Amino acid sequence: MLSIKQLYFFKNKMLKEKEVKLRQVRDDVVDCQKCSLYKTRIFPVIGQGSHSAKIMFIGEAPGAQEDKTGIPFCGASGKFLDELLNSAGIKREEVYICNLLKCRPPGNRDPKSEELEVCTPYLEKQIEAINPKIISPLGRHSMNFLMKKFNLVEQIDLISKIHGKIFNIENNIKLVPLYHPAVAVYNANMKEVLIKDFEILKAI
Ligand code: URA
Repeated sequence: MLSIKQLYFFKNKMLKEKEVKLRQVRDDVVDCQKCSLYKTRIFPVIGQGSHSAKIMFIGEAPGAQEDKTGIPFCGASGKFLDELLNSAGIKREEVYICNLLKCRPPGNRDPKSEELEVCTPYLEKQIEAINPKIISPLGRHSMNFLMKKFNLVEQIDLISKIHGKIFNIENNIKLVPLYHPAVAVYNANMKEVLIKDFEILKAI
């Protein structure tokens, strides 16, 4: 059996390895010119939160406010995401929040497939480094990408059908697709739906 000293040694070693991987992602994203979005962005939005997070939220792409600050979900939908986290008793600093795309698409248009192709390897490295227990895609773009990545293609459906459902994926990780918080910014009726789905996360 391992002594407490050895346990701490291994825990520290793992944390250091995470730091190295995540720092590499940060440096690579800052230097990235793999698609044209680097030309129009102000700041890349890499990710924010605990590197030991049990829950990882993955949105679509930075909006105008995020582009100005480099912080994910800091605009109107971010405020509602904060409310949802509060309502479920989850602290924002305990989770990790990032996006499929690290740079803002002009006019907040949908991500293009060629942008997803070159940008999502950064996300994959973030998921690998953080190794969360729950991955929650926010919105249909993120849901589609992650369900394909984790071999759930046959279970892909409309987000209105599968939001809040729990899918078991590799390494005991659960994937729980959620509506994008922006839906409640434009449709107040969706607030309750999102609040209920966040309770599921808390329960897990
Ligand atoms: N919408 C997203 O999908 N991500 C953000 O960071 C902000 C808004």
